[in-house]
Parts: sequence; structure tokens; C-alpha cells
Amino acid sequence: MKISDAMKVLRKSDSENIFNLYVVTEKKMYPFKNMTVGQRKSISKVAIDTNDTTFDIDFHLMYLGVLQELCIDDTFNVSNLTDVDFIVLVADLRRNIIMDDLTITSTCPKCNAKTNFRLEFNKIVESGKNYEPVHFEMVKMINGKSVKFLIDDPLITTYLSYLNYIQVHKTSPKLAELVDIGKLKVMNYPLQFLRDIMIDDEKVSDFNEMNFAKKVKFIDDTFDSEIMYGKDGVFTKIYNDVPDNRVSKLYPLIKCSKCPYERESVVTFDNFFSF
Ligand SMILES: [Zn+2]
Repeated sequence: MKISDAMKVLRKSDSENIFNLYVVTEKKMYPFKNMTVGQRKSISKVAIDTNDTTFDIDFHLMYLGVLQELCIDDTFNVSNLTDVDFIVLVADLRRNIIMDDLTITSTCPKCNAKTNFRLEFNKIVESGKNYEPVHFEMVKMINGKSVKFLIDDPLITTYLSYLNYIQVHKTSPKLAELVDIGKLKVMNYPLQFLRDIMIDDEKVSDFNEMNFAKKVKFIDDTFDSEIMYGKDGVFTKIYNDVPDNRVSKLYPLIKCSKCPYERESVVTFDNFFSF
């Protein structure tokens, strides 16, 4: 970290100890205090120790812990955050703690040219404010009972549990032998969006508390695969109706300096606080 940046951070933390951050799905601001040097250090340290933080569960959990610690409103609960809430909150936090944007070098996947671009955090927060959360329900009659499936953006904890589920299968030789990981990932992707199930207007009480493996088992044991994966199935509708770039659309586009290729500038969170 450059001395000038360090001075800026110090000045910033002296002048504004409390700032408000936006939670997308609640359309509400929450008050946060500044990160301590210790918290910043722990985040940088885990980022350095991890090869790719995008899919690292510990890294995300640590971030969630820090967010919970920093919020001074008791009603704020990281367990209620969706994946989009999380990205926008972290971008907004970075924007408030370090005022500057981030310069990132990106390599074009088409022509390999390197392009430097400014990642403007306020643009991520703005996209978050315009984001339309996924929200719909499907009702099916199953054995004379009305079953309602409630579909919403994945909670960040559900997303982490999904990552963990895939990770466990990947790293266990026994399990990896039994299943095709690629298929497992795709098959179970929509389950992240299934927030609740009501059977005859009564909530399946512990569905939300189940870890991902338990949810997979519950779905397999309870519903015929046609109900979930058939032409008019619940998961089929999620595949068809939820854009698969809904999260990456939060990030500004990077245009290649050499060829016409452009894509969303998805960045990993280790960049956000490592200095
Ligand atoms: Zn290019």
C-alpha cells in the first residue's frame, strides 16, 4: 500500500466513522462503522493464502463475519443477505473505506491483449440499486395436495452451502467416482433459488435450515423428478427464466483495447481490500 493511500484511509476513518450501506433486496440503508486495521489484515491474509477467492468458502464466511461485526443496527443479519446483496455491500464498503476506484489489468479471452481499466465501485452499487430480484412462485397439485414453490435470489449462505456440496464431491475420490461433477453442478444449480416450500399452505418448516446436501435429498425423496426437471418443472422454469448472467451484470463492461470483444468485469473480492 502506498503511503498516500494509507493517509487517505486514515483521514477517511477519522472524519467519517459511520456510513450507510445499501442492502438491495430490502431497499434499505444500514449504518456501518469503519473496518479496523485487524479486520483488513485478516481479509488480506486469507486472500493471499487462497488461490482463487471467487469460490472459496472460508473467504466468504470471513467477509460475512466482518460485515456482521461492522453493522451497528441490530436488525441487520448477514444470514438474510442474497448473493447480490453481498456483492453490492462489499463494493459499497470498499467505496466508503477507500475512496479510490481500483485499476485492474484484464486479459482478453479472445485475443490475449491486456487492457487496464478502472473498476468504479459506485457503478456496481448503482447497478445494485437497479437490480430486479428474482421472485416468483409455482403451484403444483401433487397427490391431491397443493404444493407451492417459492423462488427467490439465493441467500449467500445457501450459495456457500452449494459450493461446499460441489467441493465435497470434487475432493472425495469415492464420491467423485460415483457422479459426474459437471452434471451435479448443473442439476443442482436451480435448487439455490428455492427459498421455501408450502404444502397445503403450511411451510416445510426446516427446509431453510437444511444444508445443501439435505435439501438435495429432501427434493429427491419428496418429489417425482418430472415435477422438478420435466418440461414444466420447477427447476426447468428457473433454468429458462433466470438469466445466468444476472450476477455478472452488476459489474461494468470491459472493452478489449485490441478487438471488439467485451464482457462484464467480474472481479474477485481479494482485490477489494488487499493493499
Ligand atoms: Zn481482445
